[in-house]
Formats: sequence, structure tokens, C-alpha cells
Amino acid sequence: CGIVGYVGTKPAAPILVDGLARLEYRGYDSAGIAIVGSSEIKVHKDAGRVRELEASLPKRFGGKIGIGHTRWATHGGPTKDNAHPHASEDETIAVVHNGIIDNAAFLRASLEEAGVKLRSETDTEVLAHLICQAEGDTLEAKVLQALTRIDGTYGIAVIDLAHPDRIVVARNGSPIILGIGDGEMHIASDASALVRYTRQVVHLDDGELATVRADGYRTFTSDSRATTKSAETVEWSD
Ligand code: GLU
Repeated sequence: CGIVGYVGTKPAAPILVDGLARLEYRGYDSAGIAIVGSSEIKVHKDAGRVRELEASLPKRFGGKIGIGHTRWATHGGPTKDNAHPHASEDETIAVVHNGIIDNAAFLRASLEEAGVKLRSETDTEVLAHLICQAEGDTLEAKVLQALTRIDGTYGIAVIDLAHPDRIVVARNGSPIILGIGDGEMHIASDASALVRYTRQVVHLDDGELATVRADGYRTFTSDSRATTKSAETVEWSD
């Protein structure tokens, strides 16, 4: 339903929770965030309100890069395990996803056959495992390879402990917006989540991906060709 992301110089958790609260009007049944810590990816998620998620946030939840999600369940009930972000088994990759993966049942069965222990009933979880298993030196290469296995619609944001300076996002039928800050970047599925921080935005097109770092962004297509985007100014009155 809703996606947020932050990479910059400030603690990410409060910014992510604030963004999720601004997406509440769209409706949701559960929410969560994941942060790249110094030695692990930390995930905090639950069924229920963003306010409750915030109140139950562990004290040590530092980190300057992270992703968040408000979920409107399509595959699997509104439970803590089904809430996003979803992580790979080794917990080095975390993913949030808007949309529907049409071949999720097939992918879940293939992963289980290969010995992966699935921890949720969602279509989304397969993405975390596929990205983790994909070959490639870069997170971008892994995400691209994983997405070749996916039929369906998605807006996704991915973090990787092995590449702790970036968020990789992709869009196919579900909006992803990049917000350009001063030494920081925001990600959202809806401008309302980021207008408090910046009015300079870039809309990804379907079939487009982006690498988002504190110092800027780079957009490309599924065949790894760079695309040129121009930033727009969002008109917004509070
Ligand atoms: N299909 C995913 C799920 O059920 C994402 C739903 C959404 O867009 O919130 O977990």
C-alpha cells in the first residue's frame, strides 16, 4: 500500500515512521520499518497502527538508511509475520513491496523445494529470497535478476547489509517517487510522505529502477541502460 525510504545523515527511524503516518489516510492493516545497522539489518513491524509501531520501537534502532511500509494485505492475513519489510533467511536483504506478484504460489513452492523456510504467507517474501540468491556483485544486478522471475505489479524498495550506502527501487505498475534533499534522499509511493522534507521530486516510470544514495540517485532500465530524468517541483499546500 505505502512505501517510504530514507538515506542521509540523520537517524532514519523517526523519518520513516513520520512518512508512514502521513500515508495512513490511504488505509492499511499493518506497518513496519527496516534499518541498515552497523552489523545487521534491524526489522520492526506489526499488525495495527503506525502510532503503536512507533511506541514499541526498540531504543537501539539507529542507522541512517532504511525503508518502511504500510500494508494492505492481498496474500496472507494482516499479521506481524505478514507485515513488511520481509527479509532473506540470512537477514542481509530486506524488501518492501506494493502490488501483487501473480506467480507467487509457483515461486513460493520452488523456494520451499530448494530448502528455503518461508516465514510469511505473502507474495512479497519471495522477492527477499530471490534477491539474496541472485548472482551479481552489486545489489542492482541482484534485484534485476530477481525481477526477471516476477510476473505482476510492483513498487519495491530494497536494502542490503553488504551495500549499506544505498536503497534500490523499482517500479512496474505501482508508483515510486524520489525526493531530492540536501545531502539526503527520500523515497515514497505518494508525495504526501515526503513534501515535509523536500519539494524536488523525480517520478520513476514503469520498467525503471533507481539506485538512491545520500548524495543523489541514478536511474536505469531493466536492461541496465541509464535513463535521464528531470526533477519536478511538487505543488503542495498543508
Ligand atoms: N501483495 C503484498 C502483500 O499482500 C503487498 C500489499 C500492499 O500493496 O500493501 O503483502
